[in-house]
Amino acid sequence: MTTPLEHADRRHFWHPFTQMKEYEQQPPHVIERAEGVYLYTQDGQRYLDGIASWWVNLVGHRHPRLDQALKDQIDRFSHVSTATLTHAPAIRLAEALVDVLPRGLTRVFYSDDGSTAVETALKMVFQAWQNRGEPQRVRFVALEHAYHGDTLGAVSVGAVPIYHRIFKPLLFPVYHAPSPATCLAPSGVDEAAWMEQALAPLEAWLHQHGLEVAGFILEPLVQAAAGMYMYPPAYLRRVRELCDRYRIPLIADEVAVGFGRTGLMFACEHAGISPDVICLSKALTGGYLPMGITVATDALFDAFYADYQDGRTFFHGHSFTGNPLGCALALEVLALFRDGLLDALPERIDALQQGFASLAELPWVTQVRGIGMIAALDLVDARSRAPFPAEARTGYRVCREALSRGLYIRPLGDVLYLLPPLIITPEQLRWSIEVLKASILAVLDR
Ligand code: PLP
Repeated sequence: MTTPLEHADRRHFWHPFTQMKEYEQQPPHVIERAEGVYLYTQDGQRYLDGIASWWVNLVGHRHPRLDQALKDQIDRFSHVSTATLTHAPAIRLAEALVDVLPRGLTRVFYSDDGSTAVETALKMVFQAWQNRGEPQRVRFVALEHAYHGDTLGAVSVGAVPIYHRIFKPLLFPVYHAPSPATCLAPSGVDEAAWMEQALAPLEAWLHQHGLEVAGFILEPLVQAAAGMYMYPPAYLRRVRELCDRYRIPLIADEVAVGFGRTGLMFACEHAGISPDVICLSKALTGGYLPMGITVATDALFDAFYADYQDGRTFFHGHSFTGNPLGCALALEVLALFRDGLLDALPERIDALQQGFASLAELPWVTQVRGIGMIAALDLVDARSRAPFPAEARTGYRVCREALSRGLYIRPLGDVLYLLPPLIITPEQLRWSIEVLKASILAVLDR
């Protein structure tokens, strides 16, 4: 028996990244409340949120301090334009962020989500060159398998065929450099050699076109949406050097990995580098409200700073730019970090990574990998060790099985991963990994 709510869901709610014909055939999972790492449905099911509600949830659902920060701000005001006007939450957040960001990132531009943080970055670096009188700098460099969001600028720099291929006629051309992701290396090629192989064509291309490049965007250390493809910090350092050599602004898209996800506050810290621009979103508000932030250096800001008549203004912004509710949440998130959120991680990271390492014993599992509070694996045919045919939807079937056992995860093709709220306990992690194992066995051990 479908309830009126479930009926209306099928009739009117077009879900993201979802084939609605398939969705209609599944029982709906209507979430009624959530607490900590758990989601509860209206019919009494409990799911552990193994992907932190699409990588946004930082410290669990209904965190008392975040709830309070939001309520306090609602009692003052919920939104006001930040053109002409300004307000304390946005000012304080800008100041507090600059304190924790990698060195040199000082100018904070607000937007709405990860995609708009990326769009802002692309337009910002592009216009900076126009303003400076180097109009030939119009090209962008990104990585193969990149994912930077779903708006068209972000799709242009993206390179995940299943999401991006169809929109190609609408996109601006981008040089996509080979991905250094270690899991893509042919067997027998070690990480360092693979990185050099990835760098060689990039260096050659930049040698020819470096001075035409407006910006280089990448996801530091984890190409998340591609399938949690991870690469070593040394690659980031090499890209930083190349960008310096050709005076290319480096844009670090930390939308998925910022705010402790990799074990450090920002993934760039693993490499000891500072980008020229950083894009933030997702966990920024603890995963409560959408908000994007693009932070640039003084040097970039200065390219726009001029008399109005000079025509250098950045004509860019959104209705909800600097939304005070999001800012109040983000300020509380930073306070949680000051109070030691990162210090609690090592034990949880060990439980997650060791648990995943143990899954390598399953004959269908390969390329177990992880960093911080992200762990991933690839499913392959046990006998041939080759990927399953895409039509078999193996990853999808394992995730459905996991859901029926109380664990909410989503596949990236046949990549399975856990990316839970950072407050998950080692015990809850061990339970999740047991469920994942049992789900793989239930689907594949026939
Ligand atoms: N950049 C990265 C690295 C992402 O992983 C994502 C989303 O997953 C985005 C940008 C886009 O963020 P949003 O979905 O909030 O627009």
